Amino acid sequence: NNQVKLNINRNDELGELANAITTLSNDLNRLKNARNEFLANISHELRTPLTYIKGYADIISRSHTSEEEKREYVAIIREETTNLTELIRHLFELARVDHNQFSVKKETVTLEQLLQSVALLVRPAFDEKNMSLFVQCDERIDVFIDRKIFNQLLLNILDNARKYSLEGTQVILQGLQDEDLIKIVIIDEGEGIPEEDIPFVFERLYRVDKSRSRQFGGSGLGLAIAKELIELHDGRITLQSSFGKGTTVLIELKKEDAPVGSSVEAG
Ligand code: ADP
Repeated sequence: NNQVKLNINRNDELGELANAITTLSNDLNRLKNARNEFLANISHELRTPLTYIKGYADIISRSHTSEEEKREYVAIIREETTNLTELIRHLFELARVDHNQFSVKKETVTLEQLLQSVALLVRPAFDEKNMSLFVQCDERIDVFIDRKIFNQLLLNILDNARKYSLEGTQVILQGLQDEDLIKIVIIDEGEGIPEEDIPFVFERLYRVDKSRSRQFGGSGLGLAIAKELIELHDGRITLQSSFGKGTTVLIELKKEDAPVGSSVEAG
């Protein structure tokens, strides 16, 4: 009788093991498919600007192209080169995230100074579109974060706010403290995102309008990277948008004090 019971138990265990192996192998296949799909998409994204660049360079080299046409085509080549450079920069960032190469080195930073320094970096690009960027921050909020990672994250979000807004509009970069949460809010008056697209914008390579994004130099990776970077800080990033009116991105971070003995740095 005991022997029978043992066999039954063993059969159960073997059955469970077989199920676990099947699940693992399905997961592995899904991952492989996702990786292949990502690679196929990326090679498409890399090829497209190169096709434009080669095509327009060929036209320019023909003898009957007018000076005006040449200027126009050179502008397109420059734009496409910028897109390609951004895409490659994002791919490198993503690879670094995927390989855990972003070591998080936290320090105490004054939030307002962090926001001001990022604003300073993007201001020339905002000026070019005649857009204003306002920094509003509660007095003296210290945050314990990796400054480089936050710079990168905020640059990606502000870059979107600029890219997807019309000339002359404004963007607000806010820093707030709410009980035990630090919040960074980026509000734009841009084109907004259709409701049905909002759930997907943090996915890799997702772009709402591929042709328009091309024109603005989007890679579809900026928000995916931002999400990974904030997760390195156990934080959260969410987005609200009203199509045609504007977008608000909210970054939330648990308030964390520097370990005793570490120095407080001013921004
Ligand atoms: P991209 O590099 O294309 O901007 P992101 O991952 O940063 O890629 O954003 C994904 C998509 O979400 C963009 O292609 C764009 O359609 C939309 N999006 C992101 N931020 C904004 C914004 N502030 N206003 C309007 N649309 C936005």
